[in-house]
Amino acid sequence: MKRVHLWAACLAAMLIIPGYHPIGVVPGDLNPAIVLSAENDAMNALAERYVKLVLALGQHDADYVDAYYGPPEWRKEAETAKRTLDQIDKDALTLQQSLTTAAPAAGADDIVRLRHTYLTKQMSALRNRVAMLGGKKLTFDEESKALYDATAPTNDPAVFERTVEELGRRLPGTGSVLERYDAFRSQFVIPRDRLDATFKAAIEGCRSRTLQHMTLPPGESFTVEYVTNKSWSGYNWYQGQYKSLIQVNTDLPIYVDRAIDLACHEGYPGHHVYNMLLEKNLLRDRGWAEFSVYALFSPQSLIAEGTANFGIDVAFPTRDRLAFERNTIFPAAGLDPARAAEYYDVLALVDRLSYAGNEAARRYINGQLDATGAAGWLERYGLYSPPRAAQRVRFIDQYRSYVINYNLGKDMVKRYVESKGGTAANAAKRWQIFEQLLSSPRLPSGLVGG
Ligand SMILES: [Zn+2]
Repeated sequence: MKRVHLWAACLAAMLIIPGYHPIGVVPGDLNPAIVLSAENDAMNALAERYVKLVLALGQHDADYVDAYYGPPEWRKEAETAKRTLDQIDKDALTLQQSLTTAAPAAGADDIVRLRHTYLTKQMSALRNRVAMLGGKKLTFDEESKALYDATAPTNDPAVFERTVEELGRRLPGTGSVLERYDAFRSQFVIPRDRLDATFKAAIEGCRSRTLQHMTLPPGESFTVEYVTNKSWSGYNWYQGQYKSLIQVNTDLPIYVDRAIDLACHEGYPGHHVYNMLLEKNLLRDRGWAEFSVYALFSPQSLIAEGTANFGIDVAFPTRDRLAFERNTIFPAAGLDPARAAEYYDVLALVDRLSYAGNEAARRYINGQLDATGAAGWLERYGLYSPPRAAQRVRFIDQYRSYVINYNLGKDMVKRYVESKGGTAANAAKRWQIFEQLLSSPRLPSGLVGG
């Protein structure tokens, strides 16, 4: 990466987006090296059109705009204009054509090429979402490819069955494996009155580990709220200005492992950090307006969920995590620390059933299972308790093939980081590659062989 050139280009970029000038930078500061800025200006104009299309589509799909912290008048404009799906698609097609002609020159910096590919793929996903809202039916795999730039592998249920049998030999008691797993797990619930203190301890652990390896923008923070009646278990609503609102759903009992999982996934080094690094490095420092908006049903989500899940392992390698659970989290939750290892041994086995959730969603979306059948599949092969299976089916109703972003996303991010030398044995390198990924516009297909 050639920093000098990028810095020059980014100063030029900021000139045309009011509101994104860092304090102290005025046009007179620019030096003659900025002759390269014409290409960047052209991309910035396309980026602005992209943001406005995302906001326009948000008028048809309440879940689509997950975060927006660009100029408020752009949002107002979308609300007032209320463009039809046909109009949005027509504008999107024109923008796609403009993007094709704006391809960066051979030899352009990596990040400039990534930016162009990012906008191209995000636009393609936007048009696919428009088509879906217009009634187009896609299979599960077609949809995940169209929206998230990836297809999850198919899995033989017999493989899940063998893991369930192994758990059966492992778990004490009588009844089905699911019943025994449920009974076992019920001993590791965080009591409601200890939830907040346990989460605070987990957040502190995740944040301090992240700060050992990354510099975060000054003044960053988030607020935690406890909510009910949601299809998800936690959610990060990024607000811009390095602030997040994190909501934790308390509809169902919260198990002790969720403290670190949620604190890392939603907070550090997960969504909160990812959003902040994009805002800091791409929106503010470079003036790239496309990073003032986050379209949920888009390839960016595989990177967001994948990094948030892999981030748990980056912050807490297995042995570290066990020690922290024993010394801090279990005591905060009022649980017996001596049982932490036993609990995590069982969870490691259950984790092998993760892709059973994708299979249930695939069969449900493809019409091979109805809602009851999908819940049954989750119980049988994924060991979801009946209320959790029902909640998951609600999630699939709302978010459909989005489910692949969690487990496939994590696996793709892990492979990418490790292929660059960021193995578990080399923590410094692991954090460095991970941070670079969080700060770049790289999309799922760019993780493979990139
Ligand atoms: Zn997430």
